[in-house]
Amino acid sequence: MSKYQVNNNGYYGRFGGQYVPEMLYPNVETLRHSYLDIINSDSFQKEYKELLKNYVGRPTPLTLAKRMSAEYNANIWLKREDCAHTGAHKINNAIGQILIARHMGKTRIIAETGAGQHGVATATVCAMFGMKCAVYMGEVDIERQAPNVARMKMLGAEVIPAVSGNMTLKDATNEALRDWISNPEDTFYLIGSVVGPHPYPDMVAKLQAIISEESKSQFREQSGGKDLPDYVVACIGGGSNAAGSFYYYLNDENVRLIAIEAAGLGLNSKDTAASISRGSEGIIHGSRTMLMQTDDGQIIEPYSISAGLDYPGVGPLHSFLSECGRETVLAATDQEALDAAIELTRLEGIIPALESAHALAGLRKLKLKKNDNVIVTISGRGDKDMATYMNRFNL
Ligand SMILES: *Cc1c(COP(=O)(O)O)cnc(C)c1O
Repeated sequence: MSKYQVNNNGYYGRFGGQYVPEMLYPNVETLRHSYLDIINSDSFQKEYKELLKNYVGRPTPLTLAKRMSAEYNANIWLKREDCAHTGAHKINNAIGQILIARHMGKTRIIAETGAGQHGVATATVCAMFGMKCAVYMGEVDIERQAPNVARMKMLGAEVIPAVSGNMTLKDATNEALRDWISNPEDTFYLIGSVVGPHPYPDMVAKLQAIISEESKSQFREQSGGKDLPDYVVACIGGGSNAAGSFYYYLNDENVRLIAIEAAGLGLNSKDTAASISRGSEGIIHGSRTMLMQTDDGQIIEPYSISAGLDYPGVGPLHSFLSECGRETVLAATDQEALDAAIELTRLEGIIPALESAHALAGLRKLKLKKNDNVIVTISGRGDKDMATYMNRFNL
């Protein structure tokens, strides 16, 4: 087994684990005992691959960005998760987990959401399977993210406001966990990134690994004889698109893996979401990882222009990969991401999500050589960010 895989106790080095209240332990343990058998079963793989192909529209393209390549004097390849149904990579995970839920005999799905993107992906797959769906969302986020709230409702999900604390993602997560404790028999908790107690980080990484499974063979086919790229670059909020983008390259030690966090107004400002660069070790959402906290352990509200990167923690896999040097973590500010978004749009005719724009902004921070091959994951499309782009670019 690879040294980068989770161990039998649910840890990556000292990161990860299952830091949950006793009342939640049976639910998490039941999932831990079933998830690998289900994922590895023929019936799961057949259904998962069929839906990825005929519902999501996979494989997503690997596009050689010609004008970007000329600009950066290197070969820039784009892994196009923006082309997936619902416009981002989150659907890969939502489909995988709802299939696991059905294999376990569950009839009701719950989820938490901050910006609403994971809520929309969850509501989408619940509609497809005709399953009951409740999405917890902070009252403040419900007001900030009205279009995604409307999408979830149109898809038939019940959106339940969390009114405790700051009324944002952390509070929605607490409410979802309470729901799961009260409804252990019929309910499956569908988590949206490589976060939470074991086995979620490993399960979500495996469900997003399709991104690198595809990019590896697409690169071989399209590169004219090169076996592997020199760099793979992805943005990192909780870290699921990055985990999926890196997964099949982890043991190819010559491929440099670059994760880009959101620096917000600047790494040294208080308005940032750079949990690895600026955070410290602690426990959040059931696992030991890097997070943004005060000296006495209170979670600091993160800030980024990008709603999907605006998360105070990061998946334990990334804390581990960064500490052991397998992945390099850099950060891009709001302004750098905006500059990168307009650059991609004008050079390639692709409007990226603000999250993905952070990954693109990372390109300027690499010392690229001519003939270097760089795969950048475009985790999603920019439609959802048009209000921000209109405001910032005076459109
Ligand atoms: C949610 C989201 C992200 C951040 O989540 P990860 O788990 O870090 O991938 C990035 N890009 C898009 C388009 C998203 O919707």
